[in-house]
Amino acid sequence: MAKTKHVMYLKLSLTLLILAHVLATTNGLDSPSSKTGRPWPFKKLNKPVVLMISCDGFRFGYQFKTDTPNIDLLISEGTEAKSGLIPVFPTMTFPNHYSIATGLYPAYHGIIMNSFTDPVTGDKFNKGLDPKWWLGEPLWVTAANQGRKAVTYFWPGSEVPKDSWTCPKELCPHYNSSVTFEERVDNVLSYFDLPQSDIPDFLMLYFDQPDKEGHEYGPDDPRVTAAVGRVDKMIGRVIQGLKKREIFDEVNVILLGDHGMVTNCDMKTIYIDDLAEWVKIPADWINAYSPVLAMNPKWGKDVKNPSEKNAELVAKMNEGLSSGKVENGEFLQVYLKEKLPKRLHYSESSRIPPIVGMVGEGLIVRQNRTGVHECYGDHGYDNKYFSMRSIFIGHGPRFKQGKKVPSFENVQIYNVVAEILGLRPASNNGSSLFTRSILSSSGETGEVD
Ligand SMILES: [Zn+2]
Repeated sequence: MAKTKHVMYLKLSLTLLILAHVLATTNGLDSPSSKTGRPWPFKKLNKPVVLMISCDGFRFGYQFKTDTPNIDLLISEGTEAKSGLIPVFPTMTFPNHYSIATGLYPAYHGIIMNSFTDPVTGDKFNKGLDPKWWLGEPLWVTAANQGRKAVTYFWPGSEVPKDSWTCPKELCPHYNSSVTFEERVDNVLSYFDLPQSDIPDFLMLYFDQPDKEGHEYGPDDPRVTAAVGRVDKMIGRVIQGLKKREIFDEVNVILLGDHGMVTNCDMKTIYIDDLAEWVKIPADWINAYSPVLAMNPKWGKDVKNPSEKNAELVAKMNEGLSSGKVENGEFLQVYLKEKLPKRLHYSESSRIPPIVGMVGEGLIVRQNRTGVHECYGDHGYDNKYFSMRSIFIGHGPRFKQGKKVPSFENVQIYNVVAEILGLRPASNNGSSLFTRSILSSSGETGEVD
């Protein structure tokens, strides 16, 4: 077996593939039990395995836009969040992928927006890999810390080294948007051709669609429908690859997305300069306009109590916005961050700016009237909006067939994966009881109750 040590994971020779197959079959037959002591019912894999797939910007309901036979198959044979998966606020890609991975709200895992300026240090985050930004314990770290093998194929945050996780090249390829979806799927599937003992426990796969088209054209465009069809084909490629290896019923496949998408048009805009009658707001006080208005006013040194000034500013802005004299003003509500609705869990971090504006669904905020009037798509809005929801489907030995569960927040998923893999979860914002409502007990399979 010394020979196998010298072989690159992704480039197994045919001989080894056959050897791996024989080993897998033999080990599978011999493996006596799962960690619960029940007989392990499977033949090819001798342990629980989770494959999590994320389709960026897959709004709940996209699966009804066109024929999606492969997603439909996972739904009919698996467990689905009936009305979609609820993202965390802000409903952006990086905060949500990292909440799925850590079970933490953005205020606690530190990635409070896709890009932001730390109000205390002035340091800028823009999807960078400096470990100082990435708090909490993502699943790949939990797995590595407990001696398990994780593979991350482009998951946001996975390239950041943490504890036992070094993002080794063979398990954690560096993000490259030009790698085709077919290659991504085939590379992930190739890990199942490794000798039994080298098969990863946990694999994550990321597709940056249909988010791209959703942004460019808005969610109700035929080109988004086509992108949904392409994503479904990739799910089909995963299913076929697992079936060919006779492990489709042994791998727990979780298919989800990070957030939804809504149409926004330049004519539905709130202009900050329209508030001048109440208060003048310089552009350099604003870190981000929409879908989340992030403000960090720069008061002069003579201002003794900036918190008081911030409170006055918020009051004046809201007075103007609700006056009926500001175009679309009723669709923006401004808060001191500690006064934001509790359900958003968006205050307990020094990285969140002192003033946050909640922008109405599909509205835009700009400083002044420049630019063209056109429509496109965006996300990042309040997670109470149905348009921001994505999908959750679980398929495999721990998910019942045809089961529907009520919608839930994606911070619950960390515990679900930890439970399936038998990992000790790090502390997180999910409920340990939630796993019971969505998973069947270990070793048990079959029809829904
Ligand atoms: Zn996006």
